[in-house]
Amino acid sequence: MNNEVRMLKPEDVFSFFDDLCGMPHPSGHTDKIADYLVKFAEDRALDYKRDERGNVIIYKCSSENSRSTEPLILQAHIDMVPNSADYANIDFTKEPIRIFTDDDFIRTYGTTLGADDGIGVAMILAVLNDKTLSHPPIEALFTTDEEVGMLGAAALDASFLNGKRMINLDHESENLLVCGCTGGSDVHCSLPVKREERTGIIVNISLSGLIGGHSGLEIDKGRANANILMTRLLLALHKEIDFGLVSMRGGTKETAIPAECEVRISVYPTVFGIIENIVKSCTDTFKNEFSGVEENINITASEGEFETSDVLESSSLDSVLKVLAAVPNGAFEFIPELPDVVQTSSNLGVLRLAKNNLFFTCCVRSSVPSVLDWYCRKIEIIAEGFGGSSYKDSGYPGWMFRKDSPLQRSVKEAYHSVYGKEMKVSAVHAGLECGVFSEKIKDLDVVSLGPDVFSVHTPFEHLSISSVERTYALLKAILETV
Ligand SMILES: [Zn+2]
Repeated sequence: MNNEVRMLKPEDVFSFFDDLCGMPHPSGHTDKIADYLVKFAEDRALDYKRDERGNVIIYKCSSENSRSTEPLILQAHIDMVPNSADYANIDFTKEPIRIFTDDDFIRTYGTTLGADDGIGVAMILAVLNDKTLSHPPIEALFTTDEEVGMLGAAALDASFLNGKRMINLDHESENLLVCGCTGGSDVHCSLPVKREERTGIIVNISLSGLIGGHSGLEIDKGRANANILMTRLLLALHKEIDFGLVSMRGGTKETAIPAECEVRISVYPTVFGIIENIVKSCTDTFKNEFSGVEENINITASEGEFETSDVLESSSLDSVLKVLAAVPNGAFEFIPELPDVVQTSSNLGVLRLAKNNLFFTCCVRSSVPSVLDWYCRKIEIIAEGFGGSSYKDSGYPGWMFRKDSPLQRSVKEAYHSVYGKEMKVSAVHAGLECGVFSEKIKDLDVVSLGPDVFSVHTPFEHLSISSVERTYALLKAILETV
């Protein structure tokens, strides 16, 4: 328990938040929090449901003076990303998150804070706990395992909910009302390749130093994709020299822009100088193309042993280079009403050349379901065109941006009354649970908001105290008007 935190205003919100920090709750380990929520409901004689997946719903009747009998769903997720600096030495499944206040912030000792989404949970508990508030009937929905594929939301039986309007409290920027998100699918492709023996000098080419980042939220930042740059380098080499491709490997995660890619090629001993020149010229070209964004592009070529190895047959090398050149990568369309928000993107995230196959995965996102399907199909067709096959995972649904809705209007009015200015409305190019609920609950009117949280999912995550106070005031004002 941290008494300093518990005394911050609003006290209820910060006391519940401190309780949550005291209970370990990384994804997959949220039973303690679910027990806590059940006890919270029982102690206050509130109806509740807990499903097999660990999701909890707590129901609270409307206050006597409420204007509305139409239920409002308040939603947050109860799991957190466990990430820590080496020095923190923490077991997230057993130990609490140690927190302290620092000026306007709550910080940790080198771990994630879990303000994503503990602060959303704490605000909802404060609403449920407060007998003085004016509010419609509330269905408080706490979901599990959002951070590992929105598993709780996906498994939820929506018949537990009667509301047709929902406020998701899992956003991390106080002045922005989120009214749309993307759906996404990973398309896993496999291209059969044939190999033959070749004797020559092995050259290792390594491309590194790229920024990388989140393949949704950061796809519009103009960053380079290591798998694409390496493909271009190999195409440049292919034009000038005869080489055999031994191995190729780039990226670590579908959802991350790859920052590194490595290949091994087999060549005649005399061409190393030409390779060095091509590497140098490609490096200059890439530095020029990405100037102001990627300042540390580093490509090295080093000579290895003279040996006999299995390299791709020439026709397989051709197919591999062409398929990688053809797959769509980067940000494409933008949302018409929000020209600075990406609507559709694809990230050639992971690439592996195995003995008999080239495997690669594109993480495709779009806020328009039919466009998502179209881009996934495009990639499938390209893979098939080169003799390969593909598999699209079930993915997660999007939430198409709506410029206006009754709930948006109420939130904007409440925001204006609290802040004296207009609330900005936008959409995010990433998946949110709102997409899952929009699919499950017909005609759901949903928005997402939350206080300022910084460096989310990193050991430096911190939460603005004053932003929580204002956001909670906003939430109370919304409850009075809806
Ligand atoms: Zn979250």
